[in-house]
Amino acid sequence: MEKRDLIVRCIRTFNDFPTKGIPFKDIFPILKNPQALTAVIDLFEEYVRNTHPQVDLIVGLDARGFLFGPLLAQRLGIGFAPIRKKGKLPGPTISVSYSLEYAKAEAEMQEDAVSAGQKVLIIDDLLATGGTLQAAYELVKQQQAEVLACLVVVELKYLNGADKLKTTTVFSLVQY
Ligand code: AMP
Repeated sequence: MEKRDLIVRCIRTFNDFPTKGIPFKDIFPILKNPQALTAVIDLFEEYVRNTHPQVDLIVGLDARGFLFGPLLAQRLGIGFAPIRKKGKLPGPTISVSYSLEYAKAEAEMQEDAVSAGQKVLIIDDLLATGGTLQAAYELVKQQQAEVLACLVVVELKYLNGADKLKTTTVFSLVQY
């Protein structure tokens, strides 16, 4: 089976979760299927090696960006750094507030997570309105690092999140 088809078959939709009107895409079945998880990392790796071979660091978002980010970083032989919800990271942090498809939040990164001039790829499970990736983008830019692109497993195209992220490219494996 094609790698993308294998991934698509592992994504489930739960309507009205966590609130009415939200078609929630559950990506956890991908982790239950080793071939599907390998397919995700293979496709990301192929894209990065072909398009952004100069990448220095993967930055991943709390919480489902943590599932794929470290696996990809290890494949590429580079490091991974987290962006977390407010109050979760120790030591000096920088923060930015943003709106989600169904909530408001504040994202934080440790001050020394990214160095000036580093070339960074940002990863999350899903792009909806783009608020989360935009916040991550701003945090990385605050550290004078460069964002090469954002990687997501799922892109909800009908929410036009990629338009919000005008200054950077979005690479997605599955689109709805
Ligand atoms: P946004 O900032 O609107 O692009 O929302 C993206 C973030 O919220 C990601 O971290 C997703 O995990 C989560 N999210 C938003 N909408 C959904 C959805 N329909 N299904 C699953 N996760 C979602």
